[in-house]
Amino acid sequence: MSGNYGKVYLVGSGPGDPELLTLKARRLIDSAEVIVYDQLPGKAILGSMPESAEKIDVGKYAGNHTMTQSEINEVLVQKAKEGKIVVRLKGGDPYVFGRGGEEAEVLVAEGIEFEIVPGITSAIAVPAYAGIPVTHRESTSMVTFITGHEDPTKEESGLDWETLAKFEGTLVIFMGVKRLRRNTEELMKHGKDPKTPVAVIERGTRPDQRVTVGTLENIANLAEERKVKAPAITVIGDVVNLHEILGEQRTGADF
Ligand code: SAH
Repeated sequence: MSGNYGKVYLVGSGPGDPELLTLKARRLIDSAEVIVYDQLPGKAILGSMPESAEKIDVGKYAGNHTMTQSEINEVLVQKAKEGKIVVRLKGGDPYVFGRGGEEAEVLVAEGIEFEIVPGITSAIAVPAYAGIPVTHRESTSMVTFITGHEDPTKEESGLDWETLAKFEGTLVIFMGVKRLRRNTEELMKHGKDPKTPVAVIERGTRPDQRVTVGTLENIANLAEERKVKAPAITVIGDVVNLHEILGEQRTGADF
């Protein structure tokens, strides 16, 4: 490991409410020399990045394509090798469908010091703000996190729908907006009750959060009618019924 190298912090920003940043995330953002980010943390948090830091938006189009993961890795490695203290800011938690693990592996392979700063994952916090506890003693004691689409170039979803349809716990689906119809059809086809409650929560915890509630058989139509867009989390299971009772909250954060 070179003594002249800097260090990379893989920092989770939470789901968007700036008060859900950890104290450690706040401190590291405020003192970073370079911040490598995409749009997922949301405007409130991105707007609070210090003037003094060099800010690199890796979610942006470079030429005519969005930066690939290997180009992002290259930026992290290059800046650290210049001796910089780098914050790689990621929505939610870096190790939950955030590709933080891949970035960490590259840093280790390059001999660059790194630290992980977990964030509050949207999988739990977004349903929570929508009045949906992902576990509840009376309805379920299990929860599974899945991605609704993985590699967009892959035709097959690669998910074991048969097992998922039998699973009696709460299903929390990331990134599934475009595949909502297909995913709900797969679950019903494999025997899941069409009346199972489903909620889709867009821009959770943020001022413009929106919750759409339905059932496995009608949620795809509802989402289409309401023009549901990413980022959104889908929750499937009886816990969704608690939304009616517990109500929703959101941040008042001004952008
Ligand atoms: N590492 C992140 C997930 C990154 S994958 C985490 O732990 O939360 C990106 C997906 O996360 C989005 O497509 C969406 O499904 C979900 N997501 C992240 N923030 C969200 C938010 N504020 N509201 C709804 N969904 C969100």
